[in-house]
Amino acid sequence: MKDKPAFQTVFMQALLAVLCFTASVPLHGQERFPQPEFTSDYTIPTPLQPHPRQTVFDYIDTAILIAALASASLFALKFRRRTGLIVIAVFSVFYFGFFRRGCVCPIGAIQNMAMALFNPHFAVPITVILFFTVPLIFALFTGRTFCSGVCPFGALQELVIVKPLRLPQWVSSVLGIIPPAYLCLSVLLAATGSGFIICRFDPFIGFFRFGATFEMFVAGLLFLLAGTVVARPYCRFVCPYGVILGWLSRLSYRHVKIAPEECIRCRLCEDVCPVDAIRPPVPETMIEERKTGIRRLGFAILFLPLIAFGTGFALSLLSPYLALLHPDVRLARQIRLENAGEAEGTTLESDAFRMRDVPFDALFEREKTVRGRMTKGAWIAGSVIGFLAGLTLIASSRWKKRSVFEIDRRACVSCGRCFEVCSKEQEERRKTTLKKKEKTNERD
Ligand code: SF4
Ligand code: SF4
Repeated sequence: MKDKPAFQTVFMQALLAVLCFTASVPLHGQERFPQPEFTSDYTIPTPLQPHPRQTVFDYIDTAILIAALASASLFALKFRRRTGLIVIAVFSVFYFGFFRRGCVCPIGAIQNMAMALFNPHFAVPITVILFFTVPLIFALFTGRTFCSGVCPFGALQELVIVKPLRLPQWVSSVLGIIPPAYLCLSVLLAATGSGFIICRFDPFIGFFRFGATFEMFVAGLLFLLAGTVVARPYCRFVCPYGVILGWLSRLSYRHVKIAPEECIRCRLCEDVCPVDAIRPPVPETMIEERKTGIRRLGFAILFLPLIAFGTGFALSLLSPYLALLHPDVRLARQIRLENAGEAEGTTLESDAFRMRDVPFDALFEREKTVRGRMTKGAWIAGSVIGFLAGLTLIASSRWKKRSVFEIDRRACVSCGRCFEVCSKEQEERRKTTLKKKEKTNERD
């Protein structure tokens, strides 16, 4: 009698078929309008932004995102099969990356959400809201399964890992301060209408759009090269969305487990985790005295407001320069220089402004408002950066009692390597296969 195909295999094949089919549908939405024919020598530039699409295709993307997240969660938590996660990663790189050109992506959507929150004239499409919130909702229930292979940037980095090195704990802790700082800065700039830095300095988007500037292409290449030996450098030391995912993953209802049953401390999982997310057991002797611990925590809590104030002050000093990222502030400065005869010629923006016949005062008033908002925002963003950095350092310097190997839910990207190498897992799988064979033989 023929073996009944495993449910996982059938599920994976069905999923791939559905995803491949739906991936081909949105092609019809592209290039609907023919390009105008110029009689002059004008060359139509190659656009670096994705084409606008019909809303229905955005809904299809959202449905694909949900399907991919659900599949990744099943493969990571229920079936415990890394192969499935790799298939999803390959699909995401091609669909969300090369085909959809990395847009909409939840990482960049942080800025749309921030801008919409602080600017009543800016509306966010429902699909962008969904792209931003759905992976976060999944993180609350199943951990960072979005990072396992659904996010095209994470998937691309996952696929290039060759031999990940273990970084010293202090290096990871110090570099780990960058993502929350980047998150606060990008929210500040988006909220004040000064620009979308996440999109502007995205190292992978150029690959996906085949249109990176030379500098961004080099940056992307360096990230990928570094990623062969330092796993997922963008995810761990840059990504602002990963910060929010990490916070929610800490509270997640369920999460990837290393061993199916009790841990036998073989250390295989610890060696294989590419992002150092497995914490080894901490023996009783290493745990500091309760009194010392309480005293240290007291000092840290006392210093936290000081650190927050210091970083808030430091960023507020930078606010005049940050404000220059806003187009109105730049224009006001240019007009002032031109009026004083100190500018080296005019710019397209200043010429256009003069043609519009808008009073200078209106522009300078707008500049003043933006500068004021930037200073206030810089104080808040800087204080939050300091507060988060302080918390991260406190958390990483604290010894917590552990009798078995445990996953750090905030750092784990649900890649599936640890359970794939776990000796207990292999034993379980062998037992299940044996049981299945016995049942089949009995039936035969
Ligand atoms: S950390 Fe950021 S870039 Fe990495 S997989 Fe997660 S969302 Fe994507
Ligand atoms: S699933 Fe396991 S190996 Fe992968 S990141 Fe999480 S703890 Fe590390």
